[in-house]
Amino acid sequence: MAWYPGAEKMELQPESDEQPAITPTQVIFHSVAAPWTPRRMYEYWRDSTNLESHFGVGYDGGVGQFVGTETRADANMGANRRTDGTGAVSVETASDDASTDPWTDAQVAALVALGVWLHQRHGIPLRVCPRWDAPGFGVHRMFPEWSDGGTACPGDVRARQFREVVLPGIVAAAGGAPVPTPRGDSGPAGDTGPARYRVTINGLEYGYGAHGPQVREVGEALVRQGFGRHYASGPDEDWRDADTLNYQDFQHSLGYSGSDADGVPGEGSLRRLLGRLPSPRRVSLAHVVAAARTDPGAEQGHQTYGGEVRIVEQALADEGFLEQRWVDGSLGTRTVQAYAAFQRSLGYAGEDANGIPGQRSLRTLGDRRGFDVTD
Ligand SMILES: [Zn+2]
Repeated sequence: MAWYPGAEKMELQPESDEQPAITPTQVIFHSVAAPWTPRRMYEYWRDSTNLESHFGVGYDGGVGQFVGTETRADANMGANRRTDGTGAVSVETASDDASTDPWTDAQVAALVALGVWLHQRHGIPLRVCPRWDAPGFGVHRMFPEWSDGGTACPGDVRARQFREVVLPGIVAAAGGAPVPTPRGDSGPAGDTGPARYRVTINGLEYGYGAHGPQVREVGEALVRQGFGRHYASGPDEDWRDADTLNYQDFQHSLGYSGSDADGVPGEGSLRRLLGRLPSPRRVSLAHVVAAARTDPGAEQGHQTYGGEVRIVEQALADEGFLEQRWVDGSLGTRTVQAYAAFQRSLGYAGEDANGIPGQRSLRTLGDRRGFDVTD
């Protein structure tokens, strides 16, 4: 765990020892809605609530640290710790009771110094968080996932100070090139290069450093649709800056701008590009057809490609065509009958509703139930 040398250490227990580790990727600023010193915040976290932040900053710029920055603190709801182990560092600041007053000059200076240390120590990129789960700096009110559905914290005046004074101050004091931040209302840092962060959509990663067949699929779709000019060689399974730049061209073609067009996919643009959202759950049509031709005639419970068949069976059960107890990885007679009923529900008849999966019906099922169909 890491402790900021510029803070007075006031370690909260049992939180400091018992809460899970995080990899800090974000910094979120708050107003505490009370004119408290860091010591008073510490006492409040200790005595009155299970919530806590990592840092507290008083009106005089004094900083207290309550929990190490690689331990979860509980001030930011969904950003405290995500399933991938990343999370936010939270910074409370003294304010008036309604969180309407500006940060004092001493507070601004303290926040800038702390932000620089967090950037240097943990690699927090010098930009506004473009999404609730993407690395950077932010204020509590920016994303509903960071609170219980919404908050005004840290107040209008401080939200503006964050964009106009605090983050630019951190960027200047850190002396490094700011990481590209989209312009528009979320970007004080300017554009200096492609965005370098990853997002997870439907269980798969996209953006700089992502790896896998989904990356190649995006690249190939971009080339097909005329957005391949930044590739020196063809797209492959590693996401590089060229992928980001091509994706950004595609986003611009959709009319996106600002943080929506930073070259990192969002769900909407990805759907527009591919017609669907790729899933880590994949079913091969050829495998399922082979199972449908083999299993019914084999001994009870025979499995051909049982893992993929189970995905299809569960989808049929979820759609109401198959009893849950027949979800067993064996594409037997009951599963074929269930698939035929599903085909009829799509309007197929005769041979087209014989219970042997075809590409269109299987894709429809996959779209509805979240699996991908390959040939
Ligand atoms: Zn807050």
